[in-house]
Amino acid sequence: METRSKTTANILGIEYTRPFIVSGPCGAESQEQVESTVLALGRLGTVNLVRAGIWKPRTHPNSFEGAGNEGLKWLKDAGIAAGLPVTVEVANAKHVEAALKIGIDVLWIGARSTVNPFVVQEIADALQGVDVPVMVKNPVNPDIELWIGAFERFLRAGISRIAAIHRGFSSYEKTMYRNRPNWEIPIEFRRRMPGIPMICDPSHISGNRTLLQAVSQTALDLNFDGLMIESHINPDKALSDSKQQITPEILKVLLNNLICRTQNIEDVTGLRMIEDFRQQIDKLDYNILDIIAKRMKIAKDIGQFKKDHNITILQSMRWDEIVETRMMLGVNKELTKEFVLKLFELIHQEAIENQSKVMNS
Ligand code: PEP
Ligand code: MN
Repeated sequence: METRSKTTANILGIEYTRPFIVSGPCGAESQEQVESTVLALGRLGTVNLVRAGIWKPRTHPNSFEGAGNEGLKWLKDAGIAAGLPVTVEVANAKHVEAALKIGIDVLWIGARSTVNPFVVQEIADALQGVDVPVMVKNPVNPDIELWIGAFERFLRAGISRIAAIHRGFSSYEKTMYRNRPNWEIPIEFRRRMPGIPMICDPSHISGNRTLLQAVSQTALDLNFDGLMIESHINPDKALSDSKQQITPEILKVLLNNLICRTQNIEDVTGLRMIEDFRQQIDKLDYNILDIIAKRMKIAKDIGQFKKDHNITILQSMRWDEIVETRMMLGVNKELTKEFVLKLFELIHQEAIENQSKVMNS
């Protein structure tokens, strides 16, 4: 891993060097599988926290639903042997009780639980007065308020060591991802909840091994603090999420290939250059807004004219002509047709709304 700034920090009370790495099998299947996977992960020296699902939320009832309580002990023992803290998913108060009894170090809330405020509140109540770190996955649907609401419930229960996991969002539409990343949502989450460490889960976003590297890199380039990547000693034989799991050896290669860029530009020339670019952008953005405002003002005047002469707001031929000419102009300036169309649709929509206001005033 190429790291330019080797600062140690702490996430969930665990010291790490960016990126914070969580890895381990999708599900605990047998003592042997858990132990061999965790020991191999420990030998990598770059894994900070080991995961394994003990109770697996499966779509169909006949799928492997996890090893249950005995898996907790396999994981905890393997973690001790490897010298690593361990984490499991909890989905109700009973899971919390069993996990805490065995001494599981960190709990995580799965996407299918975050979606349900009753479940989140039940878990938060079970954690009232307990000082255990918690990671909260985004809900399955792209609803940032549900995700933030879950954090509010845990913070209110007194949980202070807390982190967010971005695992992507399900959609009916088929895409190259198992769960679409919708990167704008974690970016907005960070703006709304500053200071909460953010971990990306490329395994559940990708759903396969091919996309893992690229999704991990994108996450780091978007300033994620860490990654949660599923690993299994024998991925092809895994009882759940077999297609997306990788061996600890492959994980090592993936981590080595990551470029860990820094958000702080250290060298002064670089800093000056980026500042210069930003000033140019600031000026252009000012001009863009100024020009759009002027255009909108004219649109309102036209609205008044249309009202006075009793003609309709939408003039289809004029709109067709605008779209055609602007797309052509845009393409000559190396902008895509799609972008120009979207931009003018937005402007046109706002102009129509303004004109309706004038018309009906
Ligand atoms: C998992 O981490 O194995 C899991 C069930 O993930 P999610 O809650 O993101 O679907
Ligand atoms: Mn999984």
